[in-house]
Amino acid sequence: MSTPTPSLEDFTREALDFVGAHQKRATHDASLEPTYSVLPEKPREVEERELAEALAWRKTTFDAGFGWVDGPGAHGGRDLPPAYADAYRGVERLFDVPDEAYTRFSVGILCPALLEHADPALAAEMLRPLRRTDLVACQLFSEPGAGSDMAAARTRARLDGQEWVVDGQKVWTSGAHYSEVGLLLARTEPGSRRNAGLTAFLIDMDQPGIEVRPIRQMTGGASFSEVFLDGARVPDHRRVGEVGQGWSVIMTTMRFERAVIGTDGGIDLVLLDQLARLARDEGLGEDSATLDALGDILVRGRSAAAMTQEFLARANGGPGPEMSMSKLLLTDNLGRVAQTAHDLLDERMTVRRDPEFAWHQLALSLEGLRIGGGTDEIMRTIVAERVLGLPRTPVPAAAPTKRSL
Ligand SMILES: Cc1cc2nc3c(=O)[nH]c(=O)nc-3n(C[C@H](O)[C@H](O)[C@H](O)COP(=O)(O)OP(=O)(O)OC[C@H]3O[C@@H](n4cnc5c(N)ncnc54)[C@H](O)[C@@H]3O)c2cc1C
Repeated sequence: MSTPTPSLEDFTREALDFVGAHQKRATHDASLEPTYSVLPEKPREVEERELAEALAWRKTTFDAGFGWVDGPGAHGGRDLPPAYADAYRGVERLFDVPDEAYTRFSVGILCPALLEHADPALAAEMLRPLRRTDLVACQLFSEPGAGSDMAAARTRARLDGQEWVVDGQKVWTSGAHYSEVGLLLARTEPGSRRNAGLTAFLIDMDQPGIEVRPIRQMTGGASFSEVFLDGARVPDHRRVGEVGQGWSVIMTTMRFERAVIGTDGGIDLVLLDQLARLARDEGLGEDSATLDALGDILVRGRSAAAMTQEFLARANGGPGPEMSMSKLLLTDNLGRVAQTAHDLLDERMTVRRDPEFAWHQLALSLEGLRIGGGTDEIMRTIVAERVLGLPRTPVPAAAPTKRSL
C-alpha cells in the first residue's frame, strides 16, 4: 500500500521540525564572518571540515526522507511533486545548514541527468550513493581546446574487452581533488567530428591513470584542477547512454547546471543585506544615489527569482533553455552588487583588510560565475536562438589547416 501524499502544509511543518532538530536558525549577525565569494574556494583545512559537514548533513537528510523529495522511490526519493522539493529548500534556507556547494554537481545536476540517460542497472548502482553523497562527483567536460565549444573534445576512449581505456586532458574541473567519480566526455569513434562520436562515462577518479593538478586562482583559492588521463580505465557498465550519444547526456547536464546556478538561493539578495549594512557603516545609508542602487538590485533580484520560479513551475520535462536567462540575470545583478560596493569603498576595496577585501573577492570570483556552466556570451546565444527563435548563428568554417593551404 502506498503512503498517502501529505498536504504541502503538513510536509513543510514536518520539514521544519526535522531541520530544526538538527540545525540552528540562520542568523544575520554582522559580527559573523560573511562569505562574499560566489565560488567555493576555501583553504584546504576549512574545505575538508566543511565538506565532511556537508556530506554528513546530506546523509542525515537522505535517511530521514528529505534527501530527494521529488525523486523516484526506487532510488530513495519520496515521489512528491516539485513544489514539495521547493518547500523543503525554503525550509533549509531558514537554517544555517552546511554549504551545499560541495555536493551541488553530484546531487542537483548529475542525478537528474542520470535519471534521463542511465540504463536501469547504472541508475540502480549510482543514483542512491550519489544522492546520499556516499559518492561525490565532478564534471570532466572542458579541455584546453574545448570549453564553450565542447564538441571539439579530443580526449579519447577505446574499448578493450569490457573496459574503456581513456587518454587525454580535462581542465577547470571543479572539486576534482575531492571527487570519487567524474562524468567524463570522451571521443569513442576515432576520426568522428564535432558532437558525433562522443560518449559519456562515470569514471572512478582514484586510479593510477588519473592525475589531478589543482590550479591556483586569482582569488587565492584552488577549487578547480587540470585532470590528466593516461590509460585510465572505466568499465563499460559505467557508460551513460549509448555509445556515440554522449552529446545529449552533456546537453541535459548543462541544462540542469544552468538551472542550479540560476536558482542559486538568491545569493544577490543575501549580499544585498551586507551591502545595505556597508552603506550605513560608510554613513551613506540615506544617500539617494546609494538607495537607488540598492533598490535597483532588490527589484532585479526579486523579479529574476519570480521569473525563475515561473520557468520551473512550467517546466514539465525538466528546466529548458530559459534557465540561461536566470543565470544571466543572476550574474548581472551580482555585477551591480560588486559595482555598488566599489562605489562605496573605492580603492579601499582592493586593500587586504577585512571586511573591505571580502568585496574584492566577490568582484573577482564573479568572473568565474560568468564563465562556469557556459559564458555570458553563450547564454545570450541560447536565449536568442532557443527562447526567442532568432536565426541561428552561422557556424564559422573550420580554420584552414596546413594541408588545405
Ligand atoms: C568557476 C568555474 C568552474 C568550472 N567548472 C568546470 C567543471 O567542473 N567541469 C568542466 O568541465 N568545466 C568547468 N569549467 C570550465 C567552463 O565550462 C569553461 O571555462 C567555459 O565553458 C568556457 O570555456 P573556455 O574557458 O575554454 O573559454 P572559451 O570557450 O575559449 O571562450 C573564450 C571567450 O570567447 C567567447 N566565446 C567562445 N565561443 C563563443 C561563441 N560561439 N559565441 C560568442 N562568444 C564565444 C566566450 O564567451 C569567452 O568570452 C569551469 C569554469 C569556471 C570559471
